[in-house]
Amino acid sequence: MAEAMASENQSSRPNVALISGITGQDGSYLAELLLSKGYEVHGIIRRSSSFNTSRIRHLYEDPLAFKQGKSFQLHYGDLTDSTCLVKLIHKIKPSEIYNLGAQSHVKVSFDLSEYTADVDAVGVVRLLDAVRTCGMDKSVRLYQASTSELYGKVVETPQTEATPFYPQSPYGCAKLYAFWICKVYREAYNMHISNGILFNHESPRRGETFVTRKITRCVAKIHLDQMESFELGNLDAKRDWGHAKDYVEAMWKMMQLDEPQDLVISTGEVHSVREFVEASFAEIDRKIVWEGSAESEVGREADTGIVRVRVNPKFYRPAEVEFLQGDCSKAKSLFDWKPKFDFKSLVKDMVQSDIELFRHNPNA
Ligand code: NAP
Ligand code: GDP
Repeated sequence: MAEAMASENQSSRPNVALISGITGQDGSYLAELLLSKGYEVHGIIRRSSSFNTSRIRHLYEDPLAFKQGKSFQLHYGDLTDSTCLVKLIHKIKPSEIYNLGAQSHVKVSFDLSEYTADVDAVGVVRLLDAVRTCGMDKSVRLYQASTSELYGKVVETPQTEATPFYPQSPYGCAKLYAFWICKVYREAYNMHISNGILFNHESPRRGETFVTRKITRCVAKIHLDQMESFELGNLDAKRDWGHAKDYVEAMWKMMQLDEPQDLVISTGEVHSVREFVEASFAEIDRKIVWEGSAESEVGREADTGIVRVRVNPKFYRPAEVEFLQGDCSKAKSLFDWKPKFDFKSLVKDMVQSDIELFRHNPNA
């Protein structure tokens, strides 16, 4: 049903997308998806002292895409700079804006709480006001990257759109403001703004300091004899992990709905950090057995007895989110969305990709 609505929208509206956070994990997959659907894609990139476009280089260096007339343009900008947002929206005149830009790391948000609020909370109101300043509030659809971190210290399981929020970090609080300001602008100004409340999603393009990617990078290095062991924090934290490729598809489908929505996107399947470690080692045919408890716990390779994983409290957070499990029945009732990856194939994709990466470039 949503598919039908999507193609209807596609034929009646020009497909020009503006993506903040295009250099990130989700931004890069979303740009690929939108280009494959014939969109003109514009991305906001930040000025940085070294290249920050490795995840999207293939899109602007692809001669075939150029030949096919695919339109992909990058613009310098920042969610902390209102004037640039107004100028970009005025120039590009997007039909859809995907606000994926954020300081997205929960632990880092405890060290950079003011900055996180500036980008992840105030940045959203800057973007919304830029749309209104350009007089585009009735023509633009906006997607806000909301998060399961809003549920934090969960008050019910599984979490749905009706579950009360209880954030546990400066990141969660900033995203809470963003969620609500989107809702307020939607209702006050009748704007088409949707909050995608996405549970954790990972991929070979996930940032290296998130736990899944940290694990798959280390396991790949162990497989290639480039590392002996690594350290983690809370092994008992549980997450509902999906694949970013599947989740950007849900973002796009949400934006094609006639009515804007706030929707949970999740797999419903929960695993601990410890299980992610075991599954990653299983990909290289090694079994991990756990010994000890709390900070003295280690993960030992069953066959060789070598300690591969240690616990280091420096990776603990001042406040922890112990358990997240989403129920995305509402989204599934509004559009046809079925993840292609399950937990095992997600882990496989990440481990195999990191093995390839380090085989050719041990210092990557
Ligand atoms: P990511 O890989 O960390 O990407 C974040 C993007 O935001 C990067 O392109 C980054 O640019 C950009 N950015 C950071 N500060 C900015 C600023 N001041 N102005 C403009 N852009 C800025 O994150 P992701 O995993 O793709 O997640 C995308 C969005 O979904 C984020 O808002 C995140 O909080 C949210 N989210 C993620 C998950 C998840 O599990 N992945 C779950 C729920 C919600 P640089 O490349 O220059 O750093
Ligand atoms: P988050 O859910 O957005 O905070 O995603 P992360 O991948 O950063 O963390 C997921 C869970 O893994 C959290 O509960 C962390 O406390 C836990 N964790 C355990 N060890 C580590 C580690 O070494 N790094 C990170 N980033 N998280 C860890």
